[in-house]
Amino acid sequence: MSQSILFVAHVDESGSTLPQAAYEALGAALDVAKQLGRQLTLGLIGSNVESAANSVAAAGAQKIFAVSGSDFAPPRYATDAAAAEAICRAAAAEIVIAPATSRFLRALPGLAHRLKGCVDTHLTSIAVLAGRLTVTRWFYRQRLEAVVQRDARPWILLLDSGCHPAWTGTPGTADVQAIDVPVPPEAKRTVVTGVRVPKSDAQTIRPDAKLLFVAGAGWTKKQPDGKTHVLEAEALILDFLRGSGASLGGSKSLVDQGGENQAVLGFMTHLNQVGQTGSTPRHPKGLSTCCHGEEPHVVGWRFINERRAVNLDPNCGWARGKADVLYVADAFQVMAKLNALLGSKS
Ligand SMILES: Cc1cc2nc3c(=O)[nH]c(=O)nc-3n(C[C@H](O)[C@H](O)[C@H](O)COP(=O)(O)OP(=O)(O)OC[C@H]3O[C@@H](n4cnc5c(N)ncnc54)[C@H](O)[C@@H]3O)c2cc1C
Repeated sequence: MSQSILFVAHVDESGSTLPQAAYEALGAALDVAKQLGRQLTLGLIGSNVESAANSVAAAGAQKIFAVSGSDFAPPRYATDAAAAEAICRAAAAEIVIAPATSRFLRALPGLAHRLKGCVDTHLTSIAVLAGRLTVTRWFYRQRLEAVVQRDARPWILLLDSGCHPAWTGTPGTADVQAIDVPVPPEAKRTVVTGVRVPKSDAQTIRPDAKLLFVAGAGWTKKQPDGKTHVLEAEALILDFLRGSGASLGGSKSLVDQGGENQAVLGFMTHLNQVGQTGSTPRHPKGLSTCCHGEEPHVVGWRFINERRAVNLDPNCGWARGKADVLYVADAFQVMAKLNALLGSKS
């Protein structure tokens, strides 16, 4: 059986399409297959994969394998790993490219173990350099970039979202080859009973937004009149998020305040925290307000292309080469003006 490049994905929560990250990983897989002169095989997992398979019918895959049925609907390690293993074996996969969704980040490292292969997660690129498959990922909270080549096969590669243009094409009618995967009772011991999403997270974290708006602890500090203005700060920030569609980030000092019984912004949680001990979001632009711009915070801005900051302190971290533009100004005044401009535009 010839060895192949396999793209594997699970359907999204709606069950009718793939997650956005999967179309991006498919784009990377197609590029790699073309550069290596190989055919691409697809493998899909989910309760019913028909509609998702049709959405990628025009991608030009050699074959589409599917493991489907209600047992494969929930994001469960045992069934996901078994399904992915069956697809990899059927495809005699040498290179497996998949989206780094939370579901696959849990299941595919175990798949590598089952196949006696290797896995690399959180990749930021997959490409062919001088004829060799080469991937990159960051270490030490995005401070060091590793360029990795391996001889081990099968090699399973999980590509982070936002790192490759998504494949797009007109839906067609896919010719799907079903694989029957027996599910023993012990593989179904884990039952997903529901999903709990913090309200503030759902409302303010928007990975696809063009702008990341970051609020720092300065919003809750005493202002030149000797008083704090937390309610005003909340209103200004929420108005801006509504008007601009930006995603909300926070500094560690600000998100920690909730646990320290200090005045807090009610909608800010630890999930918003950007930085060394927080997240490293990807957005084309970022605007930081009332945040000092210290290194453990700014390291989380690694993938923000254009950075601007508003701070009263002309000697803040942003002024020392961390931002492209620093406005030495009062963020309360700047945001009120910005909101007025956004309001008049809409
Ligand atoms: C191991 C380690 C890990 C860490 N990880 C993280 C991390 O993941 N994320 C993170 O954010 N931090 C992290 N930190 C903490 C980090 O070093 C800083 O302490 C923190 O980011 C400071 O937050 P801040 O700028 O919001 O608050 P502050 O340092 O208190 O700064 C507030 C700023 O607001 C400005 N300001 C006040 N009022 C106004 C106004 N009206 N208009 C404009 N500006 C105003 C002030 O001039 C000041 O610069 C970490 C630290 C360590 C040691």
